[in-house]
Amino acid sequence: SIYLDNHATTRVDPRVVAAMLPYFSEQYGNAGSVGHAFGEAARNAVEQSRAAIAASIGAESEEIVFTSGATESNNLAIRGIAERAKRRGNHLVSVRTEHKAVLDPLARLSRRGYEVTLVDVESHGSPRAGWLDPQRVADALRDDTALVSVMLANNEIGVIQPLGEIAAICRQRGVALHCDATQGVGKIPVDVRELGVDLMSFTAHKMYGPKGVGALYMRRSRPAVRLEPQITGGGQQDGVRSGTLNVAGIVGLATALQCCVEELPTEMKRLTEMRNQLWVRLHTRIAGVELCGPGLDERAVGGGPLRLPGNLDVAFGDVDGEALLLAMGNLAVSSGAACSSTDPSPSHVLLSLGLTEDLARSTLRFGFGRFNVASEVEIAAETVAGAVERLRGLR
Ligand code: PLP
Repeated sequence: SIYLDNHATTRVDPRVVAAMLPYFSEQYGNAGSVGHAFGEAARNAVEQSRAAIAASIGAESEEIVFTSGATESNNLAIRGIAERAKRRGNHLVSVRTEHKAVLDPLARLSRRGYEVTLVDVESHGSPRAGWLDPQRVADALRDDTALVSVMLANNEIGVIQPLGEIAAICRQRGVALHCDATQGVGKIPVDVRELGVDLMSFTAHKMYGPKGVGALYMRRSRPAVRLEPQITGGGQQDGVRSGTLNVAGIVGLATALQCCVEELPTEMKRLTEMRNQLWVRLHTRIAGVELCGPGLDERAVGGGPLRLPGNLDVAFGDVDGEALLLAMGNLAVSSGAACSSTDPSPSHVLLSLGLTEDLARSTLRFGFGRFNVASEVEIAAETVAGAVERLRGLR
């Protein structure tokens, strides 16, 4: 079978597994234990990992808070800032195409009296579809805006948002900026100082690390970020996030990130090439396909890509994505038909771009990753083309 669902999660790299193993069986101490070697070994492993992770994203060690993943990091950032006693006001700004792990905490806050503004992105059909014009953020800011939250790279259409420009606008207005960088870290260059963000979420399982461990970057230099802890207890991590540290997971996160950073330039090229090849094959073989999200050759202001290297999202028009998914056989991809098993409506991201429900339901998301090889592109294209043809024949 062929795995092209690397936005959902990734296979754990064997180097990551090897680095983690000793922390299950030999160095199994609690990083909070003092007075014995087991605790000290665990603590050293955590602190070395923290330093390595911080260095990989241009941060300082004390700016990294470990969590159970990006969902928790987003909740800690958004609710933590909103609930902080001394904030500017009750207004929060984000984007319609954010992940549910941002939109849901915002929706809950709005039910508690906060005011949330969700800004629009460029529409389907535009070469920059899904892209957020920084001016829209500038226009949404108010004197009582407490936080802006904008993702770095979209998990469905791969669009990379102009965080640098958005950060400049926020800084000028004195508003804190959170970034859900879950799909960006490890896949494109990420430096918190260059991006200018105050808080940034990321997670290990999207970059060949284990599930259930992630981190939140929190700026400590001025203006230092202050937030209300969401999980309290033993006071670990300066009380910002209590709970016994997931030592093996943290070592896994650090190793995974280091591997990604080392291989980044070559991987970006390789994944872009495979992704482009798949698009060429799909749209030459199948009539009426549409690319969702920004054009594959579109560039950001600094010259970087406007789309994640391994991302492709395609609407097939007159077929149902769920039926298409079932017809994929051994090809693992995702559909825009239902973005989660609990929510039967089509992808809110695609609807926000202005796709009709039917068109949104006809999409497939392809995500190339480290363990994909070039020969899989042809097999994938053939599988999809065959399935679309069959399903269209049934109509
Ligand atoms: N944010 C984005 C953009 C994602 O793609 C995901 C993954 O589904 C998450 C947040 C949630 O991450 P986690 O599974 O680590 O909670």
